[in-house]
Amino acid sequence: KSFEELRLDPRLIRALTKKGIEKPTPIQQTAIPFILEGKDVVAKAKTGSGKTLAYLLPLLQKLFSDSGSKKKKPAPSAFVLVPSRELCQQVYAEVSSLIELCRVQIKAVQLTSGMPLSDMRNALAGLPEILVTTPACIPKCFADGVLDPAAISDSLEILVLDEADLLLSYGYEDNLRSVTSIVPRRCQCLLMSATTSSDVEKLKKLILHNPVVLTL
Ligand code: AMP
Repeated sequence: KSFEELRLDPRLIRALTKKGIEKPTPIQQTAIPFILEGKDVVAKAKTGSGKTLAYLLPLLQKLFSDSGSKKKKPAPSAFVLVPSRELCQQVYAEVSSLIELCRVQIKAVQLTSGMPLSDMRNALAGLPEILVTTPACIPKCFADGVLDPAAISDSLEILVLDEADLLLSYGYEDNLRSVTSIVPRRCQCLLMSATTSSDVEKLKKLILHNPVVLTL
């Protein structure tokens, strides 16, 4: 199938073409339609499979329909949680370049634990729709008043847990819980993991509802 057949927005397809990406990978072919439909998805996907675009493309497309004239929400609509600063940087770079190429009014920011509080505050003051971060940052932001849990409960529409197996193995569990405890029922949850351990299963039970499980 082509990206057109996956019903991807023409702006995204044009952006992909500019990046030299013409044809969806297997994980993208399978995951994108389910994510666009609003389903919770668990995907067993390794680095190199195209997993990042598999969730970023439909995530952006969903935010396209929210962007425009409407008033900005006080907290992000989408969280992407990743296990390392390096991955945070990579995902942020990918989503930022897509936003720029699509010329849409959507803002993404990244927060990592090494950042000074003033930088976090500044980043969030621009009312970004998308927050890419590591789980350790979230409780810190709550404690410092940089993020408001109640506002997140009101605004969150998509939560991505990328490399979920690593999110758990790095000892982020307690931090993750401070996020999962405020995820509203209507929020769409996507879990990407290279392996499916019992911890990943636990996480899946904790926050996903009737997920589509994809193993490629
Ligand atoms: P990931 O699995 O998300 O770490 O992606 C691995 C690499 O594959 C990244 O550099 C992407 O830019 C690239 N990529 C993702 N999707 C495609 C695609 N459909 N065609 C060609 N390259 C892709």
